Amino acid sequence: MINDQHPEFFKAFSELINQRQKINTPILITAHQNPDGDAVGSALGLHWYFKRLGISSVVMMPNSYPKFLDWMPGSKDIVIYENTPEKGKAAVEAAEYMFILDYNDLSRAGNELCDVIGRSKAVKFMIDHHVAPSNCARYIYSDAKQPSTAQMVMLLLMELNSHELLGKDGAACLFTGIITDTGSFRFPLVTAETFRITAALFDLGIDHSAIYAHVYDSYDERRFRLLGYMLAQMEVLGDAGVSVLYLTKEQQQKEQMKKGDTEGFVNYGLNLKGAKVAAFFREDEDFTRISFRSKGQIDMNVFARAHFNGGGHVNAAGGSSYDSLQDTLTRFKELIVPYVQIA
Ligand code: 5GP
Ligand code: MN
Repeated sequence: MINDQHPEFFKAFSELINQRQKINTPILITAHQNPDGDAVGSALGLHWYFKRLGISSVVMMPNSYPKFLDWMPGSKDIVIYENTPEKGKAAVEAAEYMFILDYNDLSRAGNELCDVIGRSKAVKFMIDHHVAPSNCARYIYSDAKQPSTAQMVMLLLMELNSHELLGKDGAACLFTGIITDTGSFRFPLVTAETFRITAALFDLGIDHSAIYAHVYDSYDERRFRLLGYMLAQMEVLGDAGVSVLYLTKEQQQKEQMKKGDTEGFVNYGLNLKGAKVAAFFREDEDFTRISFRSKGQIDMNVFARAHFNGGGHVNAAGGSSYDSLQDTLTRFKELIVPYVQIA
């Protein structure tokens, strides 16, 4: 129970709800940079809940979300800080209460927004499932054993006996967060509880097949061609069980790659029989963005933190490198082989 494990958070959240008449400005709900299904899903889920309670809230993301999420109820009203920084700043400055969802350190809100949020006087509530939370919120519900932030939001609302207020729209948002962060219920952190709360979301009327189609059957031709390049040039470190995937800047330019086109590409590396680690390197303007995935005990959060200015979870982490793509790939291959062997 959250009330037992995070009593301060639970009490403060309950009081916020019970004394909602006293809130004067919209509650600000934020998530991390390059928001994924769980970031957008948990934020919009909470937004729908607040709406049905008569609490006004604004959802803000540091930059835009991938196109396969634009069907989500409420997504059109999300404030994208990068596009409208003045509007974003005003929302942060006005907020008396702020939610920090699916991130646990302000640096994950991006360089600019990080400072703006840091200066804010709002009472901050964090709900997050990444390891090593920083002390950037007044009330913290952090649990790295949870497979998604959307699940944590649902557990909180269920414990308050009020999750039905989510309605079909809020439930669809949380379901999206759950499926995208668990690889559709595959990852090790999934438990019976994940299925129990998912059952409760079904009871609220979600159309799961339609949601799956939105999220997974949304490839355009560009994405297929990029995937083709990536798979054709995959390198396999067979003995170590490592798949190395990458896309060069030229390849992305040739296909006029758009943000989000390569979302999920890294997971293909783990489809290789015997693969324990997959890494995907996307060469950008002046750096390379990296996604790491692993199976079992191989801790990619520790690896990403130690070598690639990143972090995340045991089985899914990310990072970046300012060396050239070639040097980055070479460095990764040298580091990962012994790392897999000692794990
Ligand atoms: P992805 O590969 O999908 O971008 O990220 C996988 C996971 O690692 C996500 O949960 C994400 O929050 C986390 N992550 C990705 N990049 C970074 C990073 O640069 N720093 C930290 N701390 N976490 C990251
Ligand atoms: Mn998440």
